[in-house]
This record gives sequence, structure tokens and C-alpha cells, in this order.
Amino acid sequence: MRRWNGWGDDSIDVSLDREALRFLEERIGPGMQPKDATLEEACRAIPPSRLQPHPRIDTTPQTRLRHGFGQSMHDWLRLRYGKIGRLPDGVAFPESSQDVRDLLDYAAACHARVIPYGGGTSVVGHLDAPSGEQPVLSIDLSRLSRLLDLDPEAQLATFGAGIAGPDLEAQLRAHGYMLGHFPQSFEYSTLGGWVVSRSSGQQSLRYGRIEQLFAGGRVETPTGTLRIPTFPASAAGTDLREMVLGSEGRIGILTEATVRITPLPADESFHAVFFPDWATAEQALRSIAQAKLPLSLLRLSNATETLTTLTLAGHKKLIGLLESYLRWRGCGDDKCLLLIGATSQKGQRFSALDDALRIARAWHGVHAGQMIGRKWKANRFRSVYLRNALWQHGYAVDTVETAVDWPRVKQMMQAVEQAASDALAHEGERLHAYTHLSHIYAQGASVYTTFAYRLAGNFEQDLARWRRLKAAASEAIVANGGTISHQHGVGTDHAPYLAAEKGELGIGAMRQLYRHFDPQGIMNPGKTIPDASTAEDGSHVARKLA
Ligand SMILES: Cc1cc2nc3c(=O)[nH]c(=O)nc-3n(C[C@H](O)[C@H](O)[C@H](O)COP(=O)(O)OP(=O)(O)OC[C@H]3O[C@@H](n4cnc5c(N)ncnc54)[C@H](O)[C@@H]3O)c2cc1C
Repeated sequence: MRRWNGWGDDSIDVSLDREALRFLEERIGPGMQPKDATLEEACRAIPPSRLQPHPRIDTTPQTRLRHGFGQSMHDWLRLRYGKIGRLPDGVAFPESSQDVRDLLDYAAACHARVIPYGGGTSVVGHLDAPSGEQPVLSIDLSRLSRLLDLDPEAQLATFGAGIAGPDLEAQLRAHGYMLGHFPQSFEYSTLGGWVVSRSSGQQSLRYGRIEQLFAGGRVETPTGTLRIPTFPASAAGTDLREMVLGSEGRIGILTEATVRITPLPADESFHAVFFPDWATAEQALRSIAQAKLPLSLLRLSNATETLTTLTLAGHKKLIGLLESYLRWRGCGDDKCLLLIGATSQKGQRFSALDDALRIARAWHGVHAGQMIGRKWKANRFRSVYLRNALWQHGYAVDTVETAVDWPRVKQMMQAVEQAASDALAHEGERLHAYTHLSHIYAQGASVYTTFAYRLAGNFEQDLARWRRLKAAASEAIVANGGTISHQHGVGTDHAPYLAAEKGELGIGAMRQLYRHFDPQGIMNPGKTIPDASTAEDGSHVARKLA
């Protein structure tokens, strides 16, 4: 069964070995496990539902609790400490687009607000229930999960938008196809969630971000049904897909989505290349990206992330041998790891990997074979379970991400890590921060930073600590010219920073768009653009940039 207060299936535990714990203790100090609330304690605090009875709506406390949160640190803190706060008043499980229409009509009639629920993997407060007198209805889309159509000639597949990653890929695999969208949250996140939060999969280099994969679909809005037909390309004015992408539940509910699919590959491998330092690694990466080679993954870790990856890999003896060899080849303490993914179709001559390795060698890169890449592939969706183990040892882990043009990449990485460290330093706490570039473009790259730090052991202090850290990192992103999100979206946590990149006119246009489809403002209020219902508690992070 899915964990109610952590990541993943409760039958899966990924533990931290002694070496990894020692590494963390040296860097940020020993942790102490806080006392977790039990599910019973958490449910006891839930007030009665304010919704009028409806045959499709479940108002039991546990169902409401399980739909009231995503996976942000703010969500984790509330669940682990049992500080539940606002929740949806009930959860509906529609089985068709018509059911969704009926539920929207019901919500409008009883002045309820609506929060669409995909896989509940949001990390930026997308699922926060708004405050106020009106009841809140969560609409869980998991029963809209069928493959509705597959067109092999056009390589298009249409699914119910509530389908989760593994189910979607399994259904396509049965026909010899794949979508190739692999966010790290793949196990639970859904097609609809990916589209409306503009998600990016780990192999976006080959398959594209979700905006390249999303070809059309059906959206139930409070004012009616929006149907978006598929075209290979179109010059017919505004592209309606763009209104749905990034809409985060504010204009309606995506019930069906048509996506561009690819025949299953014949061969796939992931290779590790080490560079002596960040400067050579970044130059090599940029050159490979700008050569536009048909690779499936480029992922560059900075020196601290490389050290962390090698330490957490276990196999101390083997890693020791690898490090000695790398040192001999000129890659010492500052070494940076680049993973290169190579994927080919049947009958395709594969030269992209050779070309990439040739460029890497010109920048002093040392090819270390496939062992690390194989391990990365095997653990790509399992490593997130470490969050649970870290919490049990008294440590929190959070991430922030952005994207910038190449001239600003290094500066952004340093600024975010420094700002976050400084935010904790004033209370005498240390931060273990490390960064990788995970989505690479000819123009620039996404910059993805992970923070590990100690939990204080009580809700108020831990919330304040996380807010300071999140605000400092977000402000550094904006100050250094990055987008507030490359892939996680806006939700409530990033909403205060959106105006910095959209401008007043842009925010006004977004507001008008939402109003057009949702004149009463019932759809997921406060997400992307702050409003009174979510600003009332001062928001989760500092609101510096009005
Ligand atoms: C461990 C972890 C790793 C992650 N890795 C990645 C990653 O690699 N790449 C990445 O891009 N993101 C990643 N994320 C973030 C998250 O998984 C994505 O934002 C994902 O797209 C959310 O999908 P979901 O189905 O879980 O949506 P939810 O979390 O349920 O909802 C997200 C938002 O979409 C709305 N919504 C959901 N479905 C619909 C629908 N059908 N119609 C209208 N609105 C809808 C919700 O109302 C909400 O506003 C990660 C998250 C976690 C916890």
C-alpha cells in the first residue's frame, strides 16, 4: 500500500548503509529521528466534511487525508508531525469525462472549490486546499486510465489522463511502442499531471519534454468542454495546447490526452565519463549539446554530487579502485561525473555515442564504461525511497530546480548552493548541497540542486528552517535570471516568484485566461497566481517579489 506520510509503497524500504551515514554525519552532524504522528492521530484532527452528500464522493477522513498532500517538504512536515491543517472535504472518483462534467456542475452548484488530483507527486504545493468558507472537492482521476486509441500510422496514442507512468508504458509496450517520459516520480505521477505541470522526463533529450509529446486532448472546464484536435503542426493562430500546458488545474480537468509515441528501441546503454573539474566538464557538455547528437540522456554532476554518488554507491573496494584509476588519469577531488545515454532503433547505425565520447576526450574526459550507468538505470526510481530512510535518521532532503542560458549556468549553481547554505548558517546548521544539470539544450541547461540538512525535531522549527531555505534558494534563482521552475511547476510555493519572469501584463493575461474558462474561480485557487485563499497564512515561503 502507498505510504500516507512518505514516498512510495510501504513494502519497499531502501536503507542507508553505515558508510553513507558516516559521510552525512561528517558533513552536517548527527541526526535524530523526530517522533512521527500515527495515521490514527492524524485522522483524529480532521474536521467533518462541509460537502453535500453525493454518491461519487467519499468523505471519510483517511481518504481526504490521502488526497490533501503532495510530496513537498511542507507536505512532509505536516504529515509527519500530524499538523494536518486544511484538507479537501471529500474525494470523487469519476470514471468518464461525463462524470467529471457532472462533478464540476455539482461543485458550481454548491459553491465548492475543486482540486484535480493526479498522482499526488507535486513538490510545490499544487494540492493545498484553499482557506475560506467554501467546501473543497478533490477529484481523483485514477479511474480514467484506459488506452482509448492507438494510431500506429501517425504514432499517436490517446489515454485517460489519470493513467500513471508504469501503466501507460506497459500498455504501449504491449503494442511495441513507448512514450519515453520518465520523471523520477514515474511510479505514481500521471499523464494529466505531467501535461498541466509541464513535466520533464529523465530522457527528454531523446523523447522531448511533455510539451513536445502532448498532441491534443479533452478538457472539461466549468464553462464547457474544450477539445483540442491533433495536427503534426499548425499555423492557425494561438495553439490551444499551450493554454493547457502549465495550467495546473486552473482552467479545468484534462480527461483525455493524445501523445506522440515511439517504437521500442533495440538497444540502450548509459556510460560514465569523468572530467578533472567543472570547467572542462561544462565545456564538453555544451559542445556535445550544441553538436545536436541524437543521445537520450546527458546528466552532469558537480564535484560534490559526484562524491556523494560514489559514496552512496556502496562497493567501497570497487569504487576505491575506480578512484585510483581516475586520479592517475588526472581526475582527482574536483572530478565531475557525466552520464551519457545512448539509445538506438533497430537497424540504426549508432555513431552518436562515439561522437560524444570523442568530444569528451578533447576536454580531458575519461570514459569509465557502463557500470555506473547500469546502476543509475537500476535505481532511477528507487533512489527516491532514500528520503524515507533519511527522515528516520533525522535528515530532511529537498530539491530546487531552474533553467538558464549557458553563460549563467555556473553562476546559478554556485549562487543557489551558497544562498541555501547561508540560510541555515545563521542558526548554526550546516547544509550538504550538490547540483547536477539534467536537461541539456543547445541554449542552456536545467540546474537541479539537492539539499540535505538536519531536522530540528519539532514542527515549528522545522517549518521555519525549510521556509528560510526555500525562500533563499528561490530568491537566488530569480536574482540570477533563472526561471522559477524548469519542471516542477509553480503551485503555491513558487507563485510569489512568478511575476518576476512573466511581468504584470503577463500575469494579467494568465488571470484573464483562467477567468474565461472558470468565471466563478472554483478551479484550484491560488495555484500559479497567489490569491487571498492561499496567501492568508503568509504562504509557505517568503513573498519578496510582488
Ligand atoms: C520524488 C519525486 C521526483 C520527481 N521528479 C520529477 C521529474 O523528474 N520531472 C518532473 O517534471 N517532475 C518531477 N517531480 C514532480 C511531479 O512528479 C510532477 O510535477 C508531476 O508532473 C506531477 O504529476 P501528478 O500526476 O503526480 O500530479 P499531482 O501532483 O496530482 O497534481 C499536480 C497538479 O496538476 C493538477 N492535475 C493533475 N492531474 C490533472 C488533470 N488530469 N487535469 C487537470 N489538472 C490536473 C493538480 O490539480 C495539481 O495542480 C517529482 C516529484 C517527486 C515527489
